[in-house]
Amino acid sequence: MNDCLFCKFINKEIQTDIVYEDEHVLAFNDINPQAPVHQLIIPKLHVPTLNDLTDMGLAASLLTAVPKLAKQANLDSSGYRMVINCNSEGGQEVYHLHLHLIGGRQMIWPPG
Ligand code: 5GP
Ligand code: ZN
Repeated sequence: MNDCLFCKFINKEIQTDIVYEDEHVLAFNDINPQAPVHQLIIPKLHVPTLNDLTDMGLAASLLTAVPKLAKQANLDSSGYRMVINCNSEGGQEVYHLHLHLIGGRQMIWPPG
């Protein structure tokens, strides 16, 4: 999509701090980290929100990237949180689907 920031990361039109890439997904460090590790995992296809995710193969690609990245960041044993914000009240600010992988400190529940 033309004016989508995350699509520009995928197309390498804008540089970002990439930590993982495969055929279907890209992952990079969040610019405003909420924890020592805060990475965003996105589909290479422009899917605006979780409501628009209909391709279960793509869903599997996104989800299976999470433990790979957690292991890469050495969080697999200590633990981590994965968050998807959807639409306005869900706190979504960028309308290209992304999974937040957050870790490296104790998480609290419930989130704000
Ligand atoms: P949302 O609130 O949509 O779930 O999360 C959007 C995330 O994208 C936020 O955590 C925000 O810090 C991150 N973000 C926004 N702009 C940029 C950017 O230019 N680069 C990177 N790496 N992350 C960004
Ligand atoms: Zn996009």
